[in-house]
Amino acid sequence: MRVLVIEDEPKVARALKQGLEGEHYQVVLATTGEEGFFRLSAETFDFLVLDLMLPGRDGLEILRTVRRRGLQIPVLVLTARDAVEDRVAGLDAGADDYLVKPFAFAELLARIRALLRRGRSDQVLRLKAADLEMDLVTHTVTRADQPLELTPREFELLEYLMRHDQQVVSREMLAREVWKEPVRATPLDNVIDVHVARLRKKLDQGRPQKLIQTVRGVGFVLREEER
Ligand code: CA
Repeated sequence: MRVLVIEDEPKVARALKQGLEGEHYQVVLATTGEEGFFRLSAETFDFLVLDLMLPGRDGLEILRTVRRRGLQIPVLVLTARDAVEDRVAGLDAGADDYLVKPFAFAELLARIRALLRRGRSDQVLRLKAADLEMDLVTHTVTRADQPLELTPREFELLEYLMRHDQQVVSREMLAREVWKEPVRATPLDNVIDVHVARLRKKLDQGRPQKLIQTVRGVGFVLREEER
C-alpha cells in the first residue's frame, strides 16, 4: 500500500510518516501543494492524506483537479479547525472523509482502513476526454461513438493519457507507469514512440480534431489542439 501524505507542518508530517510506516504502509511525504500534486500526477498511490491548508497550491484545489481527472484515489482530508464550512468544502471537492486536527493516530488508522475497504467498490469505471470515452470494465474505447480497436498496450497507454489529460506526460512517466520499467532507455523510448504513433493513427486519423499532441523535447499530452 502506497500512501501519499501532503502536509506542510513538519511535526505532523513526521508523525504521520513514522506512524504509517509502523503500520507497514509505504509513505511518500510532500511538504508543499506543488510537490504533492506533482507526485500524484506522476506516480500511483493507493491512498492520499491531504492537509487542506497548504502554502501555494492549497488542498482543495488539488482535490478538485484530481477528481476532475477521474482519479478515484481514496482521500482523507485534514482540517485545522472544526469549521463546518471547511468540512463541507472538503467533501464537496471530492474528499472521502476528514479528520480535525489534532487527532489521535488510532483514529486516523481506523479511517484509512475503512476507506480502503470501501474504496474498491466505487472505483472509476469510465474515463472521458472530449469525445473520447473509455469503459474500464468492458475494455472498450469509442471516439464520437465509433468503437476503436486497440491492442492491450495501446489501451493501457491511452488509459494513462486519459487519467492525465491536459497534462504533459513524459516518456519517463510512460516507461515507469505503463511499461513498468524503472529505468528509461533509448530503445524503450523508441518503443513508446511507435506505440504513441499507432495509437494516434487509430484515434486521430481522418478527424478534424486531434487529441494526442506532441510536446517537443518533453513528451505528449491528451487535449484538443489549440486553433
Ligand atoms: Ca497546513
